Amino acid sequence: MNTPIIVNESTDKKAKPSADQLGFGKYFTDHMFIMDYDSGLGWHDPRIVPYQPIVLDPAAKVFHYGQTVFEGMKAFVASDGRILLFRPEKNLRRLNFSNHRMSIPQLDEEVALEAIRQLVLLERDWIPAEPGTSLYVRPFVIATQPALGVAPSEQYRFIVILSPVGAYYAEGINPVSIYVEPEFVRAVAGGVGNAKTAGNYAAGLIAQQEASRQGYSQVLWLDGVHRTYIEEVGSMNVFFKVGDTVLTPELNGSILDGVTRDSVIRLLKHWGIAVEQRRISIAELVEAQRNGSLTEAFGTGTAAVISPIGELYWQGEKFSVNEGRTGDLSAKIYDALTGIQRGTEPDPFGWMLELSRA
Ligand SMILES: *Cc1c(COP(=O)(O)O)cnc(C)c1O
Repeated sequence: MNTPIIVNESTDKKAKPSADQLGFGKYFTDHMFIMDYDSGLGWHDPRIVPYQPIVLDPAAKVFHYGQTVFEGMKAFVASDGRILLFRPEKNLRRLNFSNHRMSIPQLDEEVALEAIRQLVLLERDWIPAEPGTSLYVRPFVIATQPALGVAPSEQYRFIVILSPVGAYYAEGINPVSIYVEPEFVRAVAGGVGNAKTAGNYAAGLIAQQEASRQGYSQVLWLDGVHRTYIEEVGSMNVFFKVGDTVLTPELNGSILDGVTRDSVIRLLKHWGIAVEQRRISIAELVEAQRNGSLTEAFGTGTAAVISPIGELYWQGEKFSVNEGRTGDLSAKIYDALTGIQRGTEPDPFGWMLELSRA
């Protein structure tokens, strides 16, 4: 890249939490990456600075109109010490897709990757090595111009923070129970459901709260027009094994194009398992559960990788999946993906990017 990244190293290093304290997104490393945008200047001043609060004008557009996007990916340390990122190019392409949708200027994906590379390498001692742990990378863009007119901001900030995260499942992968949301919807085609932007998550909290009040850990979203077709589960894409075929909703404009979703589809095809990406109605799933052909269900996302579904609640009825146990295929996919990510399994798709000092 042309502009070198200026590094201002922290002199005040934090104590690192132990692996069992980590949880998800609770601890942050000693440094962060920042780059600013001004219309006319473009993106400028890429720098790594000590992790610290940011000062923004109260009129900054992000606070009022939600002009912001984010990403999430993971870095791993392999048993041989290599530092690996899982498919970062795909996350950065999606970041720019989200930027486009939210009228935020495009980032140079090579510059963004170089920023992540340098930051992760600087913080390499923060990458936990225990099984199931990783360093979560959270790039995001916020609109910073102090102006209340509803128009795209003329100033932005691109920031990358890092968080060491624990094993998503303390005792191995366990199925979750899911509340099929009958009223609220997450997104509609033509809206912003396929962009990773803040408002989607704020809008989903109310359903999430009601689901957890009733003892369910996640919401399964139905489509915003008919409330009939399956969209996603929580902030994950969703898959169903019906007979010998694995079904997942097609990319219809209102669901997110998950990196894990794509990886699972490619793995399944590689194994010779039929995958259908299409509209799936909740009625079709209920019917498949009743006739015994629905044998597995699972969510996919960077944080959990695979989250098996053991029960669905829909219109007053509980539908158990695989008697509430993790299915063989779900476990096999989890093991394959985490093995590739950890470098303990071959990487036939070339998904892992090894970070090395330039
Ligand atoms: C991030 C996200 C996913 C999962 O995407 P991955 O790239 O697999 O992490 C799915 N749905 C929503 C709404 C998301 O925000």
